[in-house]
Amino acid sequence: MSHDSGNGAPVAPSNFLRGIIEADQQSGKYAGRVDRQGAALPSVITRFPPEPNGYLHIGHAKSICLNFGLARDYGGRCHLRFDDTNPTKEEQEYVDTIIDSVEWLGFSWRDTQGEHKYFASDHFDLMYEMAEWLVSAGHAYVDSQSAEEMAANRGSFSEPGKNSRFRDRPAEESLDLLRKMKAGVFKDGEHVLRAKIDMASPNMNMRDPAIYRIRHAHHHRTGDKWCIYPMYDYAHPVSDAIENVSHSICTLEFQDHRPFYDWILARLAEGGFFPKPLPEQFEFARLNLTYAITSKRKLLQLVEEKIVDGWDDPRMPTIVGIRRRGYTASSIQLFAERIGVAKADSWIDMSVLEGALRDDLDPSAPRSVAVLNPLKLVIDNYPEGQSEPCSAPVHPHHPERGNRQFPLSRELWIEQEDFMEVPSKGYFRLFPGNRVRLRYGFVVECTGFEKDEAGKITAVHCNYFADSKSGTDGANTYKVKGNIHWVSAAHAVQAEVRLYDRLFKDPHPDAGGKDFKQALNPEAKVVIRAYLEPGTEQAKPDSRFQFERHGYFVADRVDSMPGRPVFNRIVTLKDSWGG
Ligand code: ATP
Ligand code: MG
Repeated sequence: MSHDSGNGAPVAPSNFLRGIIEADQQSGKYAGRVDRQGAALPSVITRFPPEPNGYLHIGHAKSICLNFGLARDYGGRCHLRFDDTNPTKEEQEYVDTIIDSVEWLGFSWRDTQGEHKYFASDHFDLMYEMAEWLVSAGHAYVDSQSAEEMAANRGSFSEPGKNSRFRDRPAEESLDLLRKMKAGVFKDGEHVLRAKIDMASPNMNMRDPAIYRIRHAHHHRTGDKWCIYPMYDYAHPVSDAIENVSHSICTLEFQDHRPFYDWILARLAEGGFFPKPLPEQFEFARLNLTYAITSKRKLLQLVEEKIVDGWDDPRMPTIVGIRRRGYTASSIQLFAERIGVAKADSWIDMSVLEGALRDDLDPSAPRSVAVLNPLKLVIDNYPEGQSEPCSAPVHPHHPERGNRQFPLSRELWIEQEDFMEVPSKGYFRLFPGNRVRLRYGFVVECTGFEKDEAGKITAVHCNYFADSKSGTDGANTYKVKGNIHWVSAAHAVQAEVRLYDRLFKDPHPDAGGKDFKQALNPEAKVVIRAYLEPGTEQAKPDSRFQFERHGYFVADRVDSMPGRPVFNRIVTLKDSWGG
């Protein structure tokens, strides 16, 4: 995509990664490449590389929108690559949910050349072949030190490491050992394959990093074929290069791994395994979201300790959770665009995510009425057993979407907070003697109320003005300040409504090693039975509404039954957290 201001003047790219890609496209750096079969390759290939060891969260969504978004905008493609090099932690369940989440977010790894869904384990044979070459070429050796010796000889930030006494063993000996490692001759930890770089490097990642380890474990895809597995730092660049990735985008903590990324690919290019130009790594700041945690380990703890009701609990920042909560894929994309990418870590406030949802749903969500904390309102001068239709727009800014109708009758439900026995200053809703408009209905005047023995108000009484109906001539002659919503008691739909809010009440629940369980918001899930506008019982799972004055709600995709939806509050209409 070329940036153009409309008057021909170029516009600065909106973030540094776009700047890099545009410069590379201009210089033709990745132009004219072909794959192993000779097919032309796009000049931008990115990838999203999750490890299938958990559910994706909102931080991953940022990375997905970034990688797939860049590929889309610059005529390239983005691969979905599972970094499945750690057999003991990975499962098919996670692969499936990751695929589902990326697709739900609206992205695809298919193009005219086919599917671009890969697994690092697809490349295990090639990776191993390259490892043998590295040994033969003197770039890697089998180290037989114990784990303790290896740790002691690694040095520290202030001290250089020491060469292993196995570092200079002949290449043939290393090769023989590597083959035996692969053949299953040794136990876990007896040997490792290490790159031969520099034990005195100020960058610890360059001090002869391990590239293969022995791990007698069943792999969810390769079964028992392998008992040695490549280390992430080796598998990652090699997978990128095998897949012809051009721009390998990762989070800042990998900055110190970049020298090894470049080193290993340069060696393998010398060995004729990869043509130039090689993929390059760029780092961006990970998403840190207030009032949320994005550590897979801590999210797992929430699930395992049953603090939440599973991975897709609508309070969870997982993609399955925010989806069930009612977030739209387009609101997540909008959020990702708004937060952009930066080179320094920072915090994004939860209100930015919530704001994106409001901005996405406001123009589209049909309006509806819900009474969440019901109080009976009796219109004493309205005939018993009678009702009449009232009409309201489906959407106030889209008259073409038509009107909805719902009946008014003698007994209604209104919100408890819309009546006060003794009004506070500035309160202009119902109180004895005051008039309000029943939204889309009549003006009523409060004539009294009933209380039970405990002093709780159980009903409010009023009279209506028959010539005040909204939309009729003369309705405007009644000037009232208050305008309250209601549903007819005889016609309302009773439904379970789950009022969700932020899972934590502390903006940084796990900062500085704090116990995030102390920061849980006990009001993050409040389940009520509410009275809804007739017709809402037909709501299909995943359909969203703005319940007027209350916020955005969705019919829960898991617990809704035909004719009996359960609603989740996605977000209130206004931010009440001061964000
Ligand atoms: P792990 O600790 O298990 O490695 P991870 O969150 O890094 O957890 P990965 O599956 O390795 O999980 O992540 C896949 C991709 O998502 C990586 O490229 C990673 O950089 C990116 N990613 C993960 N967390 C965030 C985040 N908070 N913000 C932006 N990108 C993220
Ligand atoms: Mg990771």
